[in-house]
Amino acid sequence: MSIKVDQALCSGCGLCVELCPEVFSWGSEGKAVVKKQESETCDLEEIADQCPMEAIEI
Ligand code: SF4
Repeated sequence: MSIKVDQALCSGCGLCVELCPEVFSWGSEGKAVVKKQESETCDLEEIADQCPMEAIEI
């Protein structure tokens, strides 16, 4: 599995960071970045579906 945040699409709303701080964190430009490629505690597909900008690619 490969997951990434499209920096051009991310609005910096913070939802993914709030839902799964294990995987998502803040980049230097106030947009979410992926710091880990997998998680046993978060449903990454579900979070990707919830991203309002559809910026999370799995
Ligand atoms: S939920 Fe989507 S738009 Fe919001 S910070 Fe995460 S990647 Fe960016």
